[in-house]
Amino acid sequence: MARTMRRVQILLLLQLCKWVITLEARPLADVPIAVTREFYGNGRIFDITHRINPEMPSWDSKNGVGQVVKLVASMKNGSNDNLSEMKFSSHTGTHVDAPSHFFEEYYEAGYDTSTLDMKTLNGPALLVDVPRNSNITAEVVKSLKIPKGIHRVLFRTLNTDRKLMFKKEFDSSYVGFLSDGAKWLVQNTDIKLVGLDYLSVAAYTDLVQTHRVLLKSREIVIVEGLKLDDIKPGLYDLHCLPMRVLGAEGTPTRCILMG
Ligand SMILES: [Zn+2]
Repeated sequence: MARTMRRVQILLLLQLCKWVITLEARPLADVPIAVTREFYGNGRIFDITHRINPEMPSWDSKNGVGQVVKLVASMKNGSNDNLSEMKFSSHTGTHVDAPSHFFEEYYEAGYDTSTLDMKTLNGPALLVDVPRNSNITAEVVKSLKIPKGIHRVLFRTLNTDRKLMFKKEFDSSYVGFLSDGAKWLVQNTDIKLVGLDYLSVAAYTDLVQTHRVLLKSREIVIVEGLKLDDIKPGLYDLHCLPMRVLGAEGTPTRCILMG
């Protein structure tokens, strides 16, 4: 009798253990799926940062950015937490360029993105629509009639209409500044932050010279790959906070506009 009782007790204990294990492993079925937002605060805050993801374009590539986040420890596989590593080009998605990107002497002297002026990256900014039929030439910049005293301008172009940042395959027919447009901007305006809506501020046919014209003084900050869809042109407060990485000539940045 005592032995039977003991067997029952052991069986009950085993069953209890099974219940506990099942309970632990059961997924939390009632957790709603997460959503990412483009606007906050009743539409007063616009997130103008593209979410880094495998399907976004990568410079000169047909295959997009590819896998960015890789779990190196996973709860599914028994770890106490989920822990990932990230791997991507420093010019991925919405990002800033440092003077060291196109000047070797600036690279040697340490002008990485962590040396960019936070005052330039944060403050009043004008969002303007650029004529859709051409690259940004001197004529085009002139025609925009950007008032003196404006220090930050985000140029919205055909790239936004064509949704190029949402297409996996890199498209070299995007529009951007030509070097004469950059020269005109440097010589005739007070602009210290230039933002554009594809992976480069400069047109594909005039890459090096345009970047060099803008970066030479080490006073102008270039923000590339901005998400400017569905926002009215006008004056906003811009806030850009690039990652602070020693030695990086480009780094992803979070940028928001507040209206
Ligand atoms: Zn860049």
